[in-house]
Amino acid sequence: MNRIPDLKSRFSSLIYAPSISASEPELDMSNHSVIAMLSDWFSTLGFQCEISKVAATRDKQNLVAKIGSGEGGILLAGHTDTVPFDEGRWSQDPFTLTEKDDRWYGLGSCDMKGFFALVLEAVKDLPLGKLKKPVYIFASADEETTMEGAKAFAANTDIRPDYAIIGEPTGLRPVYMHKGHLAQGIRITGRSGHSSDPARGLNAIEIMHKVISQLLQLKQHLADNYREDAFSVPYPTMNFGHIHGGDAANRICGCCDLHLDIRPLPGMSLEDLELMLLNYLGDISREYPGSVEIRTLYPGSEAFAGVRDSGWTRLVESLSGQQAEVVNYATEAPYINKLGCQTLVLGPGSINQAHQPDEYLAMDQLKPTVELLKQLIYKACIQ
Ligand SMILES: [Zn+2]
Repeated sequence: MNRIPDLKSRFSSLIYAPSISASEPELDMSNHSVIAMLSDWFSTLGFQCEISKVAATRDKQNLVAKIGSGEGGILLAGHTDTVPFDEGRWSQDPFTLTEKDDRWYGLGSCDMKGFFALVLEAVKDLPLGKLKKPVYIFASADEETTMEGAKAFAANTDIRPDYAIIGEPTGLRPVYMHKGHLAQGIRITGRSGHSSDPARGLNAIEIMHKVISQLLQLKQHLADNYREDAFSVPYPTMNFGHIHGGDAANRICGCCDLHLDIRPLPGMSLEDLELMLLNYLGDISREYPGSVEIRTLYPGSEAFAGVRDSGWTRLVESLSGQQAEVVNYATEAPYINKLGCQTLVLGPGSINQAHQPDEYLAMDQLKPTVELLKQLIYKACIQ
């Protein structure tokens, strides 16, 4: 009764089931086998499991598992997908859990399929019959590309936990805030022609020059008017990352592309930023009708601001023995936070190992993670 495979077997099975997310359709994979495994294990422990199809993905699934009843409770959340791996740069098979030097190597070991294996370890030993409030597990699809799993969950669920923990690799340090990310492309379409007569064309590089001048003003405006001192770079940044235009010195440049990113502070929505871009480039668009096209390169992610000074954050700080901090990478936290819960990002392993060849979880993280999760569930739902 109620038996699930042991921790290492679960960890190993999760790593063994590929669930790569990629924007390129030929690399993108289903996450169904990971969802099916988790659903099976949580069901065995008495959770009610609900699998849902996530629209706007290539047939990916979310899982919500629940045990206990009543209002509030705790939500433990994470993603079931991984990034692609660098063929040839791994020292061992990325899909085989390899124990070496007190580390568990494998794609998704710290980012972050391994987290679910540890959550199961924590809940299986708890007196689940004594729950006064529900424990929810949320396992999302497509975090590494579009975050559609978390977005769809936040938009459609009616669960309202008091607290949420997102188990991304933070070395078990609570994270209460991060910036967002917006990646935009600007394409200037001019008219090519022989360089000997500028009147025969419309030079896209010259228009892009005007665009860049305006963008630099916006960059300065963002730096001058928005500030959050918790971040090491305390203002929203803008980076020009790629530019390409034209083909030959003796041709008028017909097309020029610029890619840039903006990292907003909490409180600035991606829509607001897109509007700012439109406004700053409005005069140029009117001067050259049809020449300036602004597009989103890939789905952006919102900034996240949890509550630094709350009983929950202080409790998590004291149980983890680490001060809450802010980070520079994006997570599903802003979407989970929309449920109205107090949200923190906290999980085993280091972000330095995520998205890297030979990704691993140090084995000395295993026990502290299980103990911490047990205590958090106990404080939130049993005590
Ligand atoms: Zn992750």
